[in-house]
Amino acid sequence: SLKILEKMENLLEQRGIRQDVKMVKTGCFGLCAAGPIVIVYPEGAFYAHVKLEDVEKIVDEHIIGKKIIKDLLYKEAVTEDGEVKSFEEVPFYKKQMRIALEHCGAIGAEDIDDYIELKGYKALEKALTEMTPENVIDEVKRSGLRGRGGGGFPTGLKWEFTYKTEDEQKYVACNADEGDPGAFMDRSILEGDPHCIIEAMAIAGYAVGANQGYVYVRAEYPVAIERLQIAIDKAREAGYLGKNIFGTDFEFDMEIRLGAGAFVCGEETALINSIEGKRGMPRPRPPFPAVKGLWNKPTLLNNVETYANITKIILKGADWFSSIGTEKSKGTKVFALGGKVENTGLVEIPMGTTLREIIFEIGGGIPNGKKFKAVQTGGPSGGCLTEEYLDTPIDYDSLTALGSMMGSGGMIILDEDNCMVDIAKFFLEFTVEESCGKCPPCRIGTKRMLETLEKITEGKGEKGDIEKLEKLAENIKTSALCGLGQTAPNPVLSTIKRFRHEYEAHVNEKR
Ligand code: SF4
Repeated sequence: SLKILEKMENLLEQRGIRQDVKMVKTGCFGLCAAGPIVIVYPEGAFYAHVKLEDVEKIVDEHIIGKKIIKDLLYKEAVTEDGEVKSFEEVPFYKKQMRIALEHCGAIGAEDIDDYIELKGYKALEKALTEMTPENVIDEVKRSGLRGRGGGGFPTGLKWEFTYKTEDEQKYVACNADEGDPGAFMDRSILEGDPHCIIEAMAIAGYAVGANQGYVYVRAEYPVAIERLQIAIDKAREAGYLGKNIFGTDFEFDMEIRLGAGAFVCGEETALINSIEGKRGMPRPRPPFPAVKGLWNKPTLLNNVETYANITKIILKGADWFSSIGTEKSKGTKVFALGGKVENTGLVEIPMGTTLREIIFEIGGGIPNGKKFKAVQTGGPSGGCLTEEYLDTPIDYDSLTALGSMMGSGGMIILDEDNCMVDIAKFFLEFTVEESCGKCPPCRIGTKRMLETLEKITEGKGEKGDIEKLEKLAENIKTSALCGLGQTAPNPVLSTIKRFRHEYEAHVNEKR
C-alpha cells in the first residue's frame, strides 16, 4: 500500500495535478481480503487488489480522464448492469454498524484536521464545559457499555469506582496489549483513528479525577505506536492535552509505554506491573486497580475498543447507544474475522447479530465450496461453536452460556478440513508458551495437558487420556491465579465437548 501511495503521489506530481488531489493515508478499512484498497472520490469507486502497475491507469483514466475503470473495481462494488456501488452498499459493509471503527479508513490517521472536521475533540469540549464528572460517569453508566477487552465488566461502574476512591493522584490507562492470535481490532483503531483514544482518555481523566494517562501498546505494533505518538504530539500542540484544556482548569497529559509482547500483560494487574517497570506478572485481586493500581494509586484501565465508543456516547447520548444491541449487551462489537472465510478482515456489528450473518453474509461464506465446521471465538481463552449454534445472537452472555466467550474479538472460522484436536493443540501451545509461570496449575498443568494432546495427535494416545485431559482442565480452571490460566483449558474442553469423536478417532488409530 505504501508503494502504491508513493507511486500515485509521484505520478500526480508528474502530471502537474498533485495540488488538486487530496490524498489520504488511512488506517485499516476492514476488508483485508481485498487489499490494497484505493477509493477515488467523489465517485467513491472502490478499487481492490490494486497493484503497482494499476496506479498509472487510475491516475490517467480515472482521476484525469474521469472514467471509472470497471475491471479494477471490487467484484461486489459493481452491479450486473455495470453500475458502480459505493462501498457502503457492498455486502461486507452493508450489515455492519461502525461506531468504534467510524473513522477507520475514512480519515488520515496522521492528520488532526481530518479528525477535527468530523467533530473531533467536540466530546471533550462538551464534557469539560457542559458536564460535571458525575454527569459523564452517569452517561457512560446509562449507555450500558461493557468492557470490550473480553471481561465485559460495565464500564460506567469501573469509572465510578475509580472516581469514588479518594486520592490526590489518580491515573487513566489504556490496554493496547492485544495478544490473541488472529486479533487486530485494537491495532487497527490505533492505526486508523488514534485521536479518538486520546480524546476518550482525556474525558475519562476528567470523569475520575486523573491528570495522567498511559497507553500500553505492544512493541510489535510499530505503525500504531508511531501514529499514536504523532497524534499525542499534535493534540498537545493544539491544546487538547496539557494545562487549561478548553479554557478550564482541567489538566491532562499522556504517554505511551511499550510492552514486549507477552500475552499475560493484557491482564490488568500484569499490565500495571509492566508499566511500573516490573516483570509482567499478575497480582492477586483485590485490591482492584480502581483502588490500588499504578504505583498503588487509583487507576482506571480500559481497553482500546472500549475507549473508542466513549466520544460517540458523550456526543450522541446514552439513550442512542443503549438503543443498539441486546438487553444486556449494548452497542456494537468489533471482530477480526479470519481462517476459512472469504472476506477476512475487521467487522463491526450490532450486538445481537447472529454468527450466521457474520460468517455467511458479511464474511461471504466458506471458500472453495467447503463445508463450515466450527467457529472459534475468544481466541485461546474461548471455545468453538458448531453449525447448530449459528443462529445464536452474539452477546456476552449467550456466548458464555454456550461454553465459548466474546473475548476481545478474535473469530476464526474452520472448515471440514480442520482437525479440531489440532486446533485445541494450537491454542494450548500458545498459552503454555505465554504462561508467566507464577502459579503451578497454569505453569505445570497446561504443560501436562499439552503433552497428553501431543501424545494423542501422534497416535500414541491411550484409553483414559481424554478423561484425564478433562479432569486436569477443570482443576486448572478453578485454581489458576489469573484469567490466562483460568481460561487456557477452554479450547480443549469445548472441542472435547463438541468433537469427542475426533479425539477418540486419534486414540483408536494408534500407529
Ligand atoms: Fe501466570 Fe498462568 Fe498463573 Fe496467570 S494463571 S499468574 S499466567 S502462571
